[in-house]
Amino acid sequence: MAVINALSVDVEEWFQVGAFERAIARGEWEHLASRVEDNCARILDLFAAAGVKATFFTLGWVAARKPALIRRIHEAGHEVASHGWDHARVFALGAKGFAEDLARSRMALEDAAGAAVTGYRAPSFSIDARTPWAFPVLAAQGYAYSSSVAPVRHDHYGWREAPRFAFRPLPDSPLIELPVTTAEWRGRRLAAGGGGFFRVLPYEFTRRAVRQVNALGEPAVFYFHPWEIDPGQPRVRRAPLRSRLRHYIALGRMEGKLARLTGEFAWGRVDEVVRGLEGKLAPCPRALCA
Ligand SMILES: [Zn+2]
Repeated sequence: MAVINALSVDVEEWFQVGAFERAIARGEWEHLASRVEDNCARILDLFAAAGVKATFFTLGWVAARKPALIRRIHEAGHEVASHGWDHARVFALGAKGFAEDLARSRMALEDAAGAAVTGYRAPSFSIDARTPWAFPVLAAQGYAYSSSVAPVRHDHYGWREAPRFAFRPLPDSPLIELPVTTAEWRGRRLAAGGGGFFRVLPYEFTRRAVRQVNALGEPAVFYFHPWEIDPGQPRVRRAPLRSRLRHYIALGRMEGKLARLTGEFAWGRVDEVVRGLEGKLAPCPRALCA
């Protein structure tokens, strides 16, 4: 039987991205044109056409301002999960700040969706070797899973030593971490779970990565953002050239590629994929939980 892969959208505005954090001050957010609702509407249409359900990891900041969007996502049968409050990275928050950020965003999301939130994705995959307190905080708040680790070496994020596939990060908790998909070629491990890599590289790269992971009996974990299907978004000219290249490249190709990906493989909500793994996962390995 085909492996069901985890499909996810990290719901944030075009201006709430790491690439522009120095170019756009936090105080400007309220004055910028919101595009998240229209972009999510197109994603919902695309998913409906493909007959797939997914998880929308959403910022509390967005949920507080667009409750109707959150409700609509939930009513369409998708999972509403947390992406933190305002995209602050976990390692920058500290344990106490992280606990507050989680609680605040969950309240906004649950209020809007009218359903329980049990999953979390750290902004910019910011759970790594610097945040040993992050999993205990998630477990204490009763989260069933996190999908917050990128087990690769990358200039902006990554925890190369983390397991490639789902694991239990704590010895005394059922919490599951489902890392974003990586591919291994010629001894190198590459980020292959979506975002800019999916936009820029040929579709074949992602197809091979999903096949490689599925051949091992593991689900792929794929993600993208609403602004990635929005070629008409305002341009941030103050941002460094490198950030602009990364953010704006190949936006026009995204929708077609997504239709292809959702049509070719079996996809589902992250919470459902996690439930399918529960019986198979060993307790946390000693080396990791020390
Ligand atoms: Zn994000």
